[in-house]
Amino acid sequence: MFTFLDKLFGIEFRKVEEKLWHEKAFSYDLYVADKLRARIYLDLEARESKRGGAWMHNYQTHCLNEEGEEQLASAFVVCNFPASSDTNPSLLRHDDVVTLFHEMGHAIHHLLSSVQENEVSGVNGVEWDAVEFPSQFLENFAYEPQVLKMFASHYKTKEIISDSMIDKLVRSKNFLSAMGMIRQLEFSIFDLKVHNGAYSQNEVQEILDSIRKETSLIKTPEYNKFQNGFAHIFAGGYAAGYYSYKWAEVLSADVFYSVVDEGIFDSRTAKEYSNIILKSGGAKSMQELFKELMSRDPDTSKLLRLNGIS
Ligand SMILES: [Zn+2]
Repeated sequence: MFTFLDKLFGIEFRKVEEKLWHEKAFSYDLYVADKLRARIYLDLEARESKRGGAWMHNYQTHCLNEEGEEQLASAFVVCNFPASSDTNPSLLRHDDVVTLFHEMGHAIHHLLSSVQENEVSGVNGVEWDAVEFPSQFLENFAYEPQVLKMFASHYKTKEIISDSMIDKLVRSKNFLSAMGMIRQLEFSIFDLKVHNGAYSQNEVQEILDSIRKETSLIKTPEYNKFQNGFAHIFAGGYAAGYYSYKWAEVLSADVFYSVVDEGIFDSRTAKEYSNIILKSGGAKSMQELFKELMSRDPDTSKLLRLNGIS
C-alpha cells in the first residue's frame, strides 16, 4: 500500500517507534519531499471488544493556529481484518483490500491538506456529494493488475496472483452491474423528485411509477411499497442526497481512467490530483477543483467503463 502510494503520488510513510493502545496498532509519519507532513495510525486487525466495520477518523487537521503556527494533521484507519497469529499473517480477502484502499483514500485526503483554516481543511467542509470521491478513486486501483501484483501473492509459495484470477475478480465485480446501476438511478431520481414538493400518498406512488417506466427492466409488483421503507433518505440523512453515491463514482471513475490511460505510475494526472484535489480539502468547491484538474466537466462514460458496461 505504502509503496503504491509513493509511486503514485510521491509520498513516503516512515514507521514511528512508539507504544500505542495495542501491540497490533502502528503509526507512520508521512513525508512529502523529505518534509514531515502528517501522521497516520493503523489498527487493522479484528479482536474481541473492538467495534466492527472499517472507517477513517480525522484526529487533527492541518491548519495554522491562533499563534500562526502550523498544526500537522493526523488520522486513524481502523479495520477488522482477520487477526494474525504466531503462525499466520493477517490474510486479507480481496474485499478487505478494497476496504483498505477506500479508507486510505479518505485518510490521504485528510492528511495531505495544506489549507490553513481548520474548518475547511482535509475532509472538513468537503461537500456531501464529493466526500467519497477520493476514497472511491483509490479503491478502483485494487482491481488493476499492475497494482495487485505488487502485493497479492500466496503467503507460503509467494506465487503472484495470475492475470486470469484478476480477470475473474473484475468480471465478478461487474456481474449484473447494469441492473445495479439502474436500481441506484431509480432511488436517486425518486429521492430528488419526492423532495420537490409536499405530495400525497398517491402522488408519491405516481412519481415512483413514472420513474420505474424509465429505469426498471423487471416490472415491480403493485403490492411493493418500497417508498414507505426507504429509510436511507428519511432516517439516514440522505434526503435529496442519495444521488451523491453515484456522483462521487462519476468523479472518481473519470479521474481514475485518466491515470490508467496515462500509465499508472507515469501519470501526470495522479500528481496533479494530489496537488489540486487532496491539497485543497473543502476550501474550494469540488466542481471548481475538478475543472482545475481535468480542464473540463465530469464525463459519465467513464463510470460505464468502470462497470464493464462500455
Ligand atoms: Zn467512504
